[in-house]
Formats: sequence, C-alpha cells, structure tokens
Amino acid sequence: MRASLKQFLPVLSLISAAAAIASESNSSTAINALPEVEFSQLSQRDPNPLGERALSIHRDQWKHGETEHFIYHFVSSDVVTPISVEAEFHYRVVAKELQREQPPGDTKSHIYVFERPDDWRQFQTVGGLEKWTGGIHSRGSLFILRDAANKFSGNTLGHEVAHLILHRFYPDGIPCWLDEGFAQYVSKGAHASYQRARGYDAKPHSHAITAADLIPLATLVGMTQPPSDQVETFYDESERLVRFLAFTDKASFLNLLDSLARHQPFDSTLARIYSGKFMSVEGLEEKFREYAAKDAGSSQHDSM
Ligand SMILES: [Zn+2]
Repeated sequence: MRASLKQFLPVLSLISAAAAIASESNSSTAINALPEVEFSQLSQRDPNPLGERALSIHRDQWKHGETEHFIYHFVSSDVVTPISVEAEFHYRVVAKELQREQPPGDTKSHIYVFERPDDWRQFQTVGGLEKWTGGIHSRGSLFILRDAANKFSGNTLGHEVAHLILHRFYPDGIPCWLDEGFAQYVSKGAHASYQRARGYDAKPHSHAITAADLIPLATLVGMTQPPSDQVETFYDESERLVRFLAFTDKASFLNLLDSLARHQPFDSTLARIYSGKFMSVEGLEEKFREYAAKDAGSSQHDSM
C-alpha cells in the first residue's frame, strides 16, 4: 500500500494540473482550446495509409492540431480539446510506468477523432475495430468516434493511448497478452487517479478470475488475438498477469517486456529474468492462480 501511494503522489499533482486545464477549457472562453494548425504546417506526417483514408472522408471537415506527444485530426475544437489534455496526461502515466522518456522532437502519434457515425461506419470497414474499446489502433495511429454527446466511458482513452505509446517504444510489436494486459493495467490505475482528483472515491478495479475460467498461461502467452469465446477473461487475466509480474519485481518486468519485444520465447526468458522467483511457466502459474482469484477491488490488495 505504502509503495503504491508513493507511486501515485507525483501523478496526482499532474492530474490536478490536467483537471484544472480541462475545466478551464470547458468554459466559454476558447483561450485554452487546442490551437488549430494548417495541415501543411504540422510538424510530422503520418506514414500510415489508414490516416490518409480517414482524411479522405469528407475531406473539408478535418482540422488539425498538436501537443507535445500527439498530432490530432478533428472536426470540432470543443471535442478534441479535452481529448488532448487527457492524452498528454496518459502519456505521462505510461512513460513513468515504463521508466522511459522520449527525446524532444521524437515521433508523435496521430489521433483521428471522427464525429459523424456515418463517416465512422464507412471508415470501420477498412480497419480492425477493437471490440473492447470501440477504437481502431493501427500501426501506432488511433482512430476513434466521439462527439459531444458520446463521451468515453471509463478507461477507454487511456487504454488506447497506452497502446500508442507501447507501439512507439516497441515498433516491432509485443505479444498480445502483454499489449492488452499492460494497457488495461496502466489505464485502470490512471482512470482511478483522474477520478480521485475530481473528488470521486475511485480505486483501480481489477477483476478476479476463478481457477475454472483461467486460460492456461502457456496458451495465453501464445495467443495473437483475444479468443472470441473468452474475450473478457483474456483481458482480465492479461491485466492480472501484468499486475502480478510488475508487483513481484518491477525491474524484472521491464526487462521481460524488452526481451519479449525482441521476440524471445516466454518460457526461457521468464526463467532467466525471474530466476529465484519463478523457475518455469508452471511455477509462475501455481502462484498466479491464487493471485488471479483474489478480489482486487475490495481490499488493500488492490494495488498488489
Ligand atoms: Zn487494447
């Protein structure tokens, strides 16, 4: 508990700042609105062909803008402004968790914010929709549908931003369980912090999984996409596994992430990096099974 409080303190001051900016930008003075930039004046271009495809749908509706780590393509300023505040907030949380920082002027991720459901339907046919969040994440770019009446619920934006940042640091890809599990793990904590900064009583909520529902770890780590008949278990279990590995030893977890991003086999890499703690996937599974079944939302164990 003590460790997690310490961990959240710098984050909390960041959130207060983000929340203050967000509430100011909701006021009628457009002073803090994301400044509009001509397309030709953007600091970077998106090499992803899906980006061009998005901008070709009602081409004249798109406006553009950028912040330190993201470039936005949007329809209206009052929709994109809070998204830009939240995206930078999540960037900080994820970079801190990964203990990585990009040099100034490094790659920015592109975020396309659709507002018309018809445009979105037209676009969806070309991208692979992530059923979990309703967004499309492709090669480091994010495509989402949002309008003033259709706000994100829960940790959706944080989850997608986590994917964008993981892709930036690991462009060759990481295993699916790790990508989805980390995105859930980091965005749940961040969302709870964001809520607490606004005066809500929120704890990161992690879902317990009973032993009967667990996907065997050897199977889970080999999956290249969430299994359609166990989508929820896949996300919950991946999140719990990331949480378990990170809290067992943070340095080892980051080491494991780096190795798996270089396509090393899970079994031998785990045994090497977590030596003395888990000798094999079976050894990990035995301890993880107990941990996965704990109710993380209701006790002190929520940060474990
Ligand atoms: Zn995801």
